[in-house]
Amino acid sequence: MKPHKQIKDWGLGLTTPLIIAGPCSAESPEQIEKICLEMKAENAVPQLFRAGIWKPRTRPGSFEGIGEEGLKWMEIVRHHLNIPITVEVGNATHAELALKHGVDVVWIGARTTVNPFAVQEIAEALRGSDVPVMVKNPMNPDLDLWMGALERMHAVGLDKLAAIHRGFSDAYDKRFRNKPNWSMPIHLKRVWTGMEVINDPSHIVGKRDGILDISQRAMNFGLDGLMIETHHDPDNAWSDAKQQVTPKALREILNSIDFKEPLE
Ligand code: PEP
Ligand code: MN
Repeated sequence: MKPHKQIKDWGLGLTTPLIIAGPCSAESPEQIEKICLEMKAENAVPQLFRAGIWKPRTRPGSFEGIGEEGLKWMEIVRHHLNIPITVEVGNATHAELALKHGVDVVWIGARTTVNPFAVQEIAEALRGSDVPVMVKNPMNPDLDLWMGALERMHAVGLDKLAAIHRGFSDAYDKRFRNKPNWSMPIHLKRVWTGMEVINDPSHIVGKRDGILDISQRAMNFGLDGLMIETHHDPDNAWSDAKQQVTPKALREILNSIDFKEPLE
């Protein structure tokens, strides 16, 4: 099988440990600008800026994303920070719009990874584009579903691939929003040697406290980066208010992590 390309070969100037940060949801141009300016002021500019434009909510009745309009606001990120951007895509239309607006990297969310039809549809929409794709683990602890989604991307010729470990839901154990399940082979070595796995402590912990601890564990475990939800006013965020951190707190977290190379 043709190998996949590692993050350093995506042509975006990214390296590992890859730091991805930005709000759970894009809310307004003012919000995006404030986050960018604070990231700059706090020396907390990530390598890749994330923002949810389409939000697959578990239950109806909460903010479901600003939609295509939000893709235009990503220019604000380019203007202030001059870094690449990533958004979640949940169907073929999202994928087409992300490409149309020049999104640099797309990611597939945990609620989409569980659905091979949706994943295949996204793969077809991205075919021929060369866009890097990051695939979050499915909600449930099923490594085959996770790998299957990566394989579907690869099968249409998308070879810039990475995985995101965001934890697994558990009906009984509520210590985490989504359990990290460190004992599972989340390195995904069965798919491709060298598949990079980025940890998402925000969706694992579900609250601000504990993000540093999970981030450090992920680095000790040998994972290849962190995606941390960051908002200038987390308490008033339109989604995931409890788990987002300010750019200042992001800087403190990053300064506290020991990024030393893991032991072989
Ligand atoms: C998100 O990244 O905001 C998100 C919805 O994540 P997940 O798919 O991991 O739940
Ligand atoms: Mn979120």
